[in-house]
Amino acid sequence: MNKHPRPAQEKKLIADWNALIRTFLRPENEASRKALFKYMEQILFGLNDFLQRHVGFTEEMSLKELARRFQNTEISGNPEKKLEYVIKDLIDDIAPLAVNVSSPYFIGHMTSAIPFFMVHLKTIVTALNQNMVKLETSKVLSVLEKQLLAKIHRMIYRKDRSFYEAHVQNPYTNLGCFTEDGTIANITALWVARNSLLSSDKNAPGIEEAGVHAAFQARGIERCVVLVSKLGHYSLKKAGGVLGIGNRNIVSVCTDTDNRIDLKDLKDKIRAIRKAPGSRILAVVGIAGTTETGTIDPLPELGEICAENGIHLHIDAAWGGPTLLSNKYAHLLKGIELADSVIVDGHKQFYMPMTLGMVFFKNPEAMQNIAYHANYVIRPGSVDMGIKSLSGSREANSLILDSALKIMGSKGYALLVEHGIELARQFADEIRKRKDFELVTEPVLNILTYRLFPHELKDRIVAADTEERKRINFRLNRINIKLQRLQREAGKSFVSRTTLTVGGEDMIVLRSVLMSPMTTIEILNEILDEQESIYREKIK
Ligand SMILES: *Cc1c(COP(=O)(O)O)cnc(C)c1O
Repeated sequence: MNKHPRPAQEKKLIADWNALIRTFLRPENEASRKALFKYMEQILFGLNDFLQRHVGFTEEMSLKELARRFQNTEISGNPEKKLEYVIKDLIDDIAPLAVNVSSPYFIGHMTSAIPFFMVHLKTIVTALNQNMVKLETSKVLSVLEKQLLAKIHRMIYRKDRSFYEAHVQNPYTNLGCFTEDGTIANITALWVARNSLLSSDKNAPGIEEAGVHAAFQARGIERCVVLVSKLGHYSLKKAGGVLGIGNRNIVSVCTDTDNRIDLKDLKDKIRAIRKAPGSRILAVVGIAGTTETGTIDPLPELGEICAENGIHLHIDAAWGGPTLLSNKYAHLLKGIELADSVIVDGHKQFYMPMTLGMVFFKNPEAMQNIAYHANYVIRPGSVDMGIKSLSGSREANSLILDSALKIMGSKGYALLVEHGIELARQFADEIRKRKDFELVTEPVLNILTYRLFPHELKDRIVAADTEERKRINFRLNRINIKLQRLQREAGKSFVSRTTLTVGGEDMIVLRSVLMSPMTTIEILNEILDEQESIYREKIK
């Protein structure tokens, strides 16, 4: 790996105050401006090379070998290298071993190419280094955050102009908040729902102050549950853990044949829980774009059921939210405005760099029940973002989303959303046409699952009895596990895999997420061709 030997003249480095202090300075003269340009150029062009060349997750170097190289646990006393060489090493030695998620052949996860202007915007966020926890370290950026929260709230809830005028800069109300990611956004939504269900009243203490045990005991509660389809994101389980209700009380509801929450099972479960003494329902979660299959729960019906039963409806639109920007496909999320809370991720279909989560509430007073104050900052009545937020210090990544919306316009985002959905439909047609594949989940958004299913096994399964079917399915699972691994290791393209339960049995499927605008149907055909030949040459 030592392709780039150090110049011989480089002398031993020593930690030095004057050199150190220079690293805190700004480009105050021509010489330092030149140096800054040089490093930026080195980074941008160096990485561009990597982004062109390397694809996917190769096994060129095993994880074992990597682990062996990263064993030293000492921090060097004197500086090890100059910035120039650090950058060089990152480009030459680290980047090639990272995963090139921007490749158009990387269609396995919800992480993809981003518009390059995002790198510039992220640089500004870092250079400004605002801390969003309080006004005194962010000023205009806190005001801007409130405006952006109102913009996305409006995209979701479409309240009238006067509503947004009343709340956009209101220091006492909150339309939502930014978080690190969708996980924290889900936790925040359920935290608010929990505190609202178990707020203090004259007979019982609030859960936030008194804790789970006292709050439950005073109300004769034994357990609180959250209902979500079995395709719910695992962050909801984490929420169950950290909010003290227990992750086993994140109860799975069956799905129908289209991978949507089964409304009959949901109603049965609601009825049974309400009958059981000591059980309460904290929330029902609907999913607008499941992580595994991209499907959307029947949101209007969920809205109706929750309204009838007085249950908090939370909609997880971490993935699907930006679909609302497309006039053509926004109808898929009809009913989202009925939710009490909604989450959307910036680093998914807003094509932002890692990371930005968002949570929104229908009721602008809802977040009052998670307010915390400190004497030195975040005083009552200020717009300090840290008052109602799980995190403390937080970077101003919202600035990136705000700028991106200006650069792209809702119509620009709509083009991306529509490209993904339409490409997924074409891909599904292609899979259906091929005799050795089976489409497992029809795409609703831009995610679909399928599997390699050799035609000779298709013929056999038609006439098979239960035992034989099981054997064939077992064999298909083995084939698809191996296929996914071999394709990943070949390093040309990347499709992920997951396990769905179909007819009570585990089915291993290949999962593709079509979000990169550089992915075309020709590329998808190449990926299918490669899978066919891997099967024929290495598995069969
Ligand atoms: C990605 C995702 C999340 C979690 O988001 P992170 O940003 O990865 O924490 C939650 N729900 C759904 C449906 C998701 O797709």
